[in-house]
Amino acid sequence: TNRTFTMVKPDAVEAGNAGAILKMIEEAGFRIVALKKTLLTQERAGQFYAVHAERPFYASLCAYMSSGPIYAAILEKENAVADFRTLIGATNPAQAAEGTIRKLFATSLEANAVHGSDSDENAAIEGGFFFSLTEQF
Ligand code: ATP
Repeated sequence: TNRTFTMVKPDAVEAGNAGAILKMIEEAGFRIVALKKTLLTQERAGQFYAVHAERPFYASLCAYMSSGPIYAAILEKENAVADFRTLIGATNPAQAAEGTIRKLFATSLEANAVHGSDSDENAAIEGGFFFSLTEQF
């Protein structure tokens, strides 16, 4: 068993889709280890996405990710990182497979409803960005 980290992004929370998305995640076999609703400042969004600091979309991404509340969660499942990326679909919802979370709920390449970690190492770093060890059960 291992873990991944996700965020339900501001567009999906604003649209009232957080519950439906968390339900899909649980029905796909992920156990919720930690969960919180929170609001990122632009500065904290910038820290979270520091790896993208040189990308042209960085400033817009940080503004968007701090534009409203998000849900942050640590998830547990065998093969969690890869299986979660399959469940959410391609970054660009126009290319996301039928039945994926992004196909169902994303509205654009930027406002793409959910985040999913891209490696076990990043899952641990990203989970630690939001949750202390005593919050992870
Ligand atoms: P995430 O890390 O959120 O799961 P990802 O790994 O599929 O997404 P990345 O390439 O790491 O995608 O980009 C991080 C986020 O930045 C995307 O989820 C999306 O919200 C935004 N993004 C990516 N590419 C673009 C772009 N070309 N224009 C605008 N926003 C973008």
